[in-house]
Amino acid sequence: WAGIPTLGAVTLPLRPELAGLQPYGAPQLDVPVLLNVNENPYPPAEDVVADIAADVAAAARGLNRYPDRDFLALREDLAAYLLKESGVALTPDQVWAANGSNEVMLHVMQAFGGPGRTALSFAPTYSMYPEYARDTGTGWVQGRREPDFTLHPATAAATITDLGPSVVLLASPNNPTGTALPLGTIEAVLGAAGDVHGGCVVVVDEAYGEFRRAGTPSALEILGDHPNLAVSRTMSKAFGLAGARIGYLAAAPALVDALRIVRLPYHLSGVTQAVARAALKHSVALMAQVGSLRAERDSTVDWLRSHGFTVAESDANFVLFGMFDDRHAVWQGLLDRGVLIREVGPPGWLRVSVGTPEEMAAFRAALLEVTR
Ligand code: PMP
Repeated sequence: WAGIPTLGAVTLPLRPELAGLQPYGAPQLDVPVLLNVNENPYPPAEDVVADIAADVAAAARGLNRYPDRDFLALREDLAAYLLKESGVALTPDQVWAANGSNEVMLHVMQAFGGPGRTALSFAPTYSMYPEYARDTGTGWVQGRREPDFTLHPATAAATITDLGPSVVLLASPNNPTGTALPLGTIEAVLGAAGDVHGGCVVVVDEAYGEFRRAGTPSALEILGDHPNLAVSRTMSKAFGLAGARIGYLAAAPALVDALRIVRLPYHLSGVTQAVARAALKHSVALMAQVGSLRAERDSTVDWLRSHGFTVAESDANFVLFGMFDDRHAVWQGLLDRGVLIREVGPPGWLRVSVGTPEEMAAFRAALLEVTR
């Protein structure tokens, strides 16, 4: 493909920076053991399904009308959930939501990025970040993490001071490494961001926040001290609702108000709002399930280490492990045995999502076969 799409004699004016690019996404293959996109392996329980179905039916009766544009009831429910999960009290005007946290962070970039501005993250990290920058015409710079995937507070602060970005994106726990950031590091980043001429918004992307280990804090705890901090979360992972597309964010009311400017009208459908609110009623049971996924994560880490693999510390529902001279061969060998994981991260590493005990047993057996 030459990069300039044509239809007969008609040339489409594709933006030059998009020419030849492929859409983002991991392979969606039909294999027995899916451990490649950090989903929750457990489908919603029957009582959750029943509540979702009933509330969607009620919403369906009003679908001739546009939904609540400001989804205030959902924002209240999300604030109540965050209080339960993190002990941090928020008002609904400190909460924002969209169709997945990808869209939430795109809103941040639409409001605070743009031509002539720069967004910054620290690699290796989530590979969608440069796409938010590209799609909003924002400049993109990647600093580096340390060899153990942590972020050095002074290095991060110095990079911000040198560059003067408008947006900093920090995933914690980070994808694909699993690394959580201590509050001290986030404070150092916020300190430098506070001195950026023209201002700088810091997004701490806690898509995997619920899986953090005991003693690892959430950036929500320091939200009240920082009007330029936004903490992004999702219902795709811990809640097991990746298919429903609901992400959200907590920040100062003024920051949320800026996001309201750039959202499309009625971007969150009445059906989506109903699904989210129905699932949030079951947050206590879902949190118990997260506990068992954390335990499965920790035992996967232990097993990999005891079998001689190198494993990155993980506060998430996935584990980055290696090192392989030919990681593609290992990935393919697992796939040939019905186990799909992700070939991602620095050379030599592979990432496996935490599944059910049965799925992890299949992963372990296949990995031993492929590597021994
Ligand atoms: N942030 C990180 C770090 C992720 O890994 C993902 C999903 N893979 C997302 C955000 C986006 O998830 P969603 O749009 O489903 O909320």
